[in-house]
Amino acid sequence: MGETQLARAAALAELRAEFPVLAQNVNGAPLGYLDNAATTQMPLAVMEAMQRFDRHDRANIHRGVHTLSQRATDRFEEARETLKHFVGAGADHELVFTSGTTDALNMLAHGLSTAGIGDATIKPGDEIIVSELEHHANLVPWQQAARRSGAQLRILRPDAQGRLQEDELARLLGPRTRVFALTACANATGERPPYEAMLARAAAAGALTVLDAAQAVSHETLDVAALACDFMAFSGHKMYGPMGMGALVGRRAALERLEPLRYGGDMVEWVSRTDASFAALPMRLEGGTPNVSGAVGMAAAASFIEGIGRERIDAHVTALRAQAAAGLAAMRGVTLMSPEAHRSAIVSFVTDGVHPHDVGTLLDARGIAVRTGLHCAHPLLEYLGFGPTTRASFAVYNTHDEVERLLAGVTHALEVLR
Ligand code: PLP
Repeated sequence: MGETQLARAAALAELRAEFPVLAQNVNGAPLGYLDNAATTQMPLAVMEAMQRFDRHDRANIHRGVHTLSQRATDRFEEARETLKHFVGAGADHELVFTSGTTDALNMLAHGLSTAGIGDATIKPGDEIIVSELEHHANLVPWQQAARRSGAQLRILRPDAQGRLQEDELARLLGPRTRVFALTACANATGERPPYEAMLARAAAAGALTVLDAAQAVSHETLDVAALACDFMAFSGHKMYGPMGMGALVGRRAALERLEPLRYGGDMVEWVSRTDASFAALPMRLEGGTPNVSGAVGMAAAASFIEGIGRERIDAHVTALRAQAAAGLAAMRGVTLMSPEAHRSAIVSFVTDGVHPHDVGTLLDARGIAVRTGLHCAHPLLEYLGFGPTTRASFAVYNTHDEVERLLAGVTHALEVLR
């Protein structure tokens, strides 16, 4: 090992020590956790931030005159500001806390397709475009929104390699397009569409644009103010933060159009027996007691990522992915779902004549955790002509040695099972 490599290995060992869960054996082998697209692990800094809140500041927020309530409110609003900064939100943006990406996208699709004080934004005869690459969380809410409002759902199909083409989007866009919803990275295949250009094209055609950033936010710099993006959703547990926590960031003017999903405490201005008026953003969309320690943890996760730097994390995870993709592509009977997915941390593959669940089970017997199945993206895998896949996905704490163990494990599984 050269000196730089040694220094890098030492730095990685130090970083791994911040993730207690990694220091264990599973089935007699060191844990190689390669299921990060499903959920990343949490560093001590995030756990400690949440514990600090729960030990010292825990109380319900907003309107409390006592000290703890004020401190809790301060922690919650500081977390909001940290996360707004993290995704490059500008003065005309707002961040609404949600329980995750799924919750954010449901709030959005519901809010745009439901009439409240004003008319619904999505009207009969309008069109909603979603790509075929989407996780069910960015598809099913739009199916329901279309159904509710009498709009038509149109699907942006990929080419045979699972790549989205701008020309195809241009063909679908028209005067009736009200919403265009797109993922920043397909969780099932690892494909990263040219979302910057695609959102810009849809916005230029007059559509409201939605970016599902769940798979990108942990390693790609997402500057929401620089993108032609009206709404962006992401989850805490996919960025080294807590589960059950997420955010919907949007341009204020666009968020103002949402009919709230949750009516109740904290989101109202005044209430009579028969009517109510709603608070200003962001509280208007945050009815009920929020997960305050979750917000604190998610902000600590953002600080953890920024402390390392997203460019460094991106370089690390994409290098791990490239190593895995090269090794898998060289194996007989292995087909990669998205062979050219350069900016992704996900590699998804099928094995001729061998079921992914069997591959995953044999990998688990060697301490390697991967995900197998349809990855909540049934229409995409069906369209591409594949069934279930095996998916390995990488995070800042993964090592090249773990990738080697993955490759050895897949080779072994193919030998045993074929
Ligand atoms: N969108 C994408 C691209 C995802 O990968 C996932 C989860 O895997 C989701 C949305 C849903 O995220 P959550 O379960 O945190 O709501």
